[in-house]
Amino acid sequence: MSTVDLHLHSHHSDGLLSPSELAAVLAAHAIQFCALTDHDTVAGLDEFADAATKVGITTIPGIELSTDWRGKTLHVLALGIDPSARIITEAVQHRLTVRRERAQQIASKLDRAGQPGSEALRRFNQHGAPTRTHFAQALVALGAAASMDIAFKRWLSQGQPGYVKTEWPSLSDTLRTITQGGGTAVLAHPLRYRLSAGQRRTLLTDFKSEGGVAIEVVTGGAAMHQIETATGLALRAGLEASQGSDCHDPSLAWQRPGRLAKLPSALVPVWHRFGFKGD
Ligand code: AMP
Ligand code: MN
Ligand code: MN
Ligand code: MN
Repeated sequence: MSTVDLHLHSHHSDGLLSPSELAAVLAAHAIQFCALTDHDTVAGLDEFADAATKVGITTIPGIELSTDWRGKTLHVLALGIDPSARIITEAVQHRLTVRRERAQQIASKLDRAGQPGSEALRRFNQHGAPTRTHFAQALVALGAAASMDIAFKRWLSQGQPGYVKTEWPSLSDTLRTITQGGGTAVLAHPLRYRLSAGQRRTLLTDFKSEGGVAIEVVTGGAAMHQIETATGLALRAGLEASQGSDCHDPSLAWQRPGRLAKLPSALVPVWHRFGFKGD
């Protein structure tokens, strides 16, 4: 069983649980070292750190930043940041503004496609970090989609009527932000992007040369062959390795914290930088 989980979501972005509820779940699954990494917000970090400390879990501050690399949206985890550093608060504010504007645009596009976009948005309009997950949940609740997966596939994914191309800050800008904000940059779920093998190698070269430190090798639900592929990528690129469940809802078995496979021993665990020697 793994005791490290460096990729977790709370209801401050698109997770189900409050930071305190999440900390209780992590304790029940014997997690010892972790990071809350909500999409583009640090709003849950204080509550999470307090709740986790009370149940004997060590945390480091984190965030999952949306970024653009050559026209593709990628996610970079920033671990160990100073959440109050000006460069971080500005990067977060900018992304939250982008998210709120995008949510309005998605709602309008869905409306034009005959779907209850504005009605969906009204359900979560006060949310600090609105995501497509909130739209998918609302479309399901309103009976416009039979499941989250269908909501994404039919309405919210690239090429679908409710998709809005988003201008996230560039990867180089994002890596500079993370480094100057005292953090360690980890490329999240590197196999989940639609990239050719050549593009992925180029991405990892760019990522490393611009200050990236590690890639996520073990993610929630990853099959053994995917872990092997990601291990090869990390070793070839000379990058360290991270692991995280990407848990949004611990009742989903493949996202449950504490069930991650062990990191292959050839890799350098990124959490050694933060003084945690377990796993
Ligand atoms: P956003 O950052 O607002 O574009 O939303 C991206 C989030 O949507 C991801 O972090 C996932 O949590 C979620 N997501 C993307 N695709 C799917 C899918 N097919 N089913 C369920 N959730 C998804
Ligand atoms: Mn998400
Ligand atoms: Mn992600
Ligand atoms: Mn995530």
